[in-house]
Amino acid sequence: MTGVVVLKAGRERSIERRHPWIFSGAVGQVIGAPRAGETVAIRSTDGAFLAWAAYSPRSQIRARVWSFAEPEVPDDAWLHGKLGDAIARREPILGQTDALRLVHAESDGLPGIIVDRYAGVLVLQLLSAGAEAHREAIAESLARLTGCAALFERSDAEVRSLEGLPERSGPVRGEAPDRVCIAEHGLRYWVDVRGGQKTGFYLDQRDNRERMRSLAAGREVLNCFSYTGGFSIAALAGGARSVMSLESSAAALQLARTNAALNGFADAQAEWREADVFRTLRSLRDAGRRFDLIVLDPPKFAPTARQAQAAARGYKDINLNALRLLRPGGLLATFSCSGGISAELFQKIVAGAAADAGASATILARMQAGPDHPVRLEFPEGEYLKGLLLRREG
Ligand code: SAH
Repeated sequence: MTGVVVLKAGRERSIERRHPWIFSGAVGQVIGAPRAGETVAIRSTDGAFLAWAAYSPRSQIRARVWSFAEPEVPDDAWLHGKLGDAIARREPILGQTDALRLVHAESDGLPGIIVDRYAGVLVLQLLSAGAEAHREAIAESLARLTGCAALFERSDAEVRSLEGLPERSGPVRGEAPDRVCIAEHGLRYWVDVRGGQKTGFYLDQRDNRERMRSLAAGREVLNCFSYTGGFSIAALAGGARSVMSLESSAAALQLARTNAALNGFADAQAEWREADVFRTLRSLRDAGRRFDLIVLDPPKFAPTARQAQAAARGYKDINLNALRLLRPGGLLATFSCSGGISAELFQKIVAGAAADAGASATILARMQAGPDHPVRLEFPEGEYLKGLLLRREG
């Protein structure tokens, strides 16, 4: 028998607004003994059906909604249809790249399921008990829907521990090569799907990399937190006079160098420094260096709102020191991928940094993740990446 989760009286509002998470505090009663990942019916105290959801006894997010309609029972055929819908929605992006996010979890109505495609290789990341329970069906569907023979799993994200799941990484179907070569907006990058960060590449920054390319001509560029060189190579392709990249991971930097060569850029135009950004921004200033375009794309300082304060200090520090390195008329592209920092708060932090730097700046554009990382109105948590493109006026 399917288990039932009965919500406390008055706690139906969030689910009626189609938010997919049911927190433990909203649960009144659990009928039956559902196991982790099993599908349960969510009902109100008067017995009305609200949703089908995946149960997760260990998590604060006690259940994640698969569907809000009683006839839409989340079986393998339903899941196949939903995965197919998500993939079909990405058709328009395929002209620009062969590397993209095919499934973006809650934001595609598929909680906990992330699927990235790197040319002929799929990378799967399962982040919830419900996603985990459907692992076999997902792998089978993806093979049928995409025709990709290689499916590699990168469920080695720390958040899995919140769901009581161990980290896992390795081939699911076929064999993924050590590195996959992708083509994004005509530029080529090697992606390390086995050992790289996230699933191998920061796909969410695709359009912002392209924007930097369009702004880079003739500029001296500083790319902070460069990873495998995404923004650096885009800037070189856009005709940057020089590009200095700062990155703490030696492995990422090595791949960045290889990527620059792959696109035909000589070492003379590019400087790759294995360095800590916080310290190096200061030492560059002490050395009297100045730049015309600076990119700040740091890692997640605040995964949740609880770490927001410490994160705010980090963001302020790097933005302050970057603005000090910028010539008047120079551009700063500054990002935050912290779920715990809203776009509004981020702008305030950057404004505070500019004030302390004695800089005046204009917002030329607000930036976000590309369209393969959709944001649903009913799931604002999906809007994690925000960026500001600023011009220093004086
Ligand atoms: N802009 C990149 C992605 C950046 S991810 C792209 O488009 O691909 C953030 C990077 O910052 C990671 O590669 C991480 O290794 C690096 N990093 C984290 N802390 C750092 C620090 N203090 N100094 C330098 N690099 C750091």
